[in-house]
Amino acid sequence: MAKSKKKSSVVLACSVCKERNYTVNKSRGKLPAPVKLEINKFCNVCRAETMHGETK
Ligand SMILES: [Zn+2]
Repeated sequence: MAKSKKKSSVVLACSVCKERNYTVNKSRGKLPAPVKLEINKFCNVCRAETMHGETK
């Protein structure tokens, strides 16, 4: 049986084209409150820096 890890991977999707460009590991438990990730990153589809939001 596989051990259950506390780390959960979060997919960051472009807010413009909804393309899933990045995956980050977010360890739960350290943050005092659940913070929704919003990072300005480069999107290969838009070919520009766009806001990338957390998606499932
Ligand atoms: Zn995009």
